[in-house]
Amino acid sequence: SDDPEKEQIGELLVKLPKLNNIFEVHRKIGEGTFSSVYLASLRKQSGLAESQKRWFAIKHLVPTAHPARVEHELKCLHDMGGRHNVIGVELCLRQLDTIVFVMPYIPHRKFAEYVGDMDSHEVALYMQALLVALKHVHSFGVIHRDVKPSNFLYDRENKRYLLVDFGLAQRVVPALPEPPPAHINSSAKRPREEDTESPPGAKRVALDLSLRPHTCLSMPVSKQIDTLKINTTLKRNMPKNGASVLTSCACSNIGGVCAWCMRRPGARAPRAGTQGFRPPEVLLKSPVQGTAVDTWAAGVMLASLLTARYPFFRAADDVSALAELADLLGSAAIQRTAASLGRRVVLSGSRGGICLRKLAKRLRRPPIPAPRDTPICPRCTLPQPHCLCLRPQKEHIPDDTEVVAGFPESAFSLATQLLEPNPRTRLSAEEALKHPFLTNLCS
Ligand code: ADP
Ligand code: MG
Repeated sequence: SDDPEKEQIGELLVKLPKLNNIFEVHRKIGEGTFSSVYLASLRKQSGLAESQKRWFAIKHLVPTAHPARVEHELKCLHDMGGRHNVIGVELCLRQLDTIVFVMPYIPHRKFAEYVGDMDSHEVALYMQALLVALKHVHSFGVIHRDVKPSNFLYDRENKRYLLVDFGLAQRVVPALPEPPPAHINSSAKRPREEDTESPPGAKRVALDLSLRPHTCLSMPVSKQIDTLKINTTLKRNMPKNGASVLTSCACSNIGGVCAWCMRRPGARAPRAGTQGFRPPEVLLKSPVQGTAVDTWAAGVMLASLLTARYPFFRAADDVSALAELADLLGSAAIQRTAASLGRRVVLSGSRGGICLRKLAKRLRRPPIPAPRDTPICPRCTLPQPHCLCLRPQKEHIPDDTEVVAGFPESAFSLATQLLEPNPRTRLSAEEALKHPFLTNLCS
């Protein structure tokens, strides 16, 4: 056959005859870096009408997926799935390195098709469903780490919601104490920071640190890290022949990043997730990473729904992503957060932040045709008379009854509290469920 999709399905069924015995696999419905997902129904129901059949999503994991990672994903689905809007697993089949998870199928559309189309009530129901799922996952001490629209499936007609894809989920690891600031005690021993930095080119890295003792990596990652640490320590203590060597941080003297800091080993921290949904603590490589990583991503999804913009953040790398956050939340807020996480962010200019309400109002307004020759702002890509970047934006605090861009004030206040840059004060899923935007719901 010259249909590559049919060919793929055929190959899978040959490798996994058990799957073929039970299921009819119809077509591919999803594809990521780590899996392909197919629509299937039961062979014994092949005589039934389409509407009578039970439908399944078959997730075929790439054979290179680490066994410990696969085991963890399966364990998450098994322990937490099947309730509170979290996908469950019906069956797992394996033959050598071919592994599939069989899950109930939920019809859904692409987020981009409904992002600008949901009214306040529908947005509240959607956010409530997402936060119910997150509260459930978090109660197990698990961080999903890849909360985003394509992992939260929404059956709009039947008002059903499913959080899927635990391929990056991690257990919460208690944060190690941060080292004292370098200029106080430069010889202080650094705590061991775990590294799950992606190799170049990889979309994401899936390494569950808590699973490491059971894994069988040919070269233990921890050993690689240790070697690296020793080397950098040695280098740091070796004076360069005769040259004056800074022995402590001098950033404040030069108003930038000093030579001493330039030579410090880069911080390392988990950064698994998807661009555009990473919170400040991940972008800042802080070890303070907990379930608040997920509620930030929920905040990004809410911001998308309020402004009818997807993707909401577009930066291609972590440093630009931080700059983008400074644009939205203000540079002072980002710098404060960084300081409380033991990091320092040096920005070339200061930004006051953009009021989410004004942004929603502006972005939801029908586009005004810009006169020809109107310069387009290179930052926000809006015609310059409408550009938000040039004017400093003062936070507008409306009263509780005010409706902006079709949404009550409470919707913006929830978004702001989920997009709190400091992970320690960010709203948890449980707290968010008690927010007026969601408790005022009468469904
Ligand atoms: P990946 O790790 O490759 O991202 P996911 O589990 O997120 O895998 O699945 C990829 C896509 O497959 C999803 O975005 C969704 O479109 C589709 N999908 C996954 N599970 C289901 C399901 N239970 N029902 C319907 N579609 C699904
Ligand atoms: Mg996914």
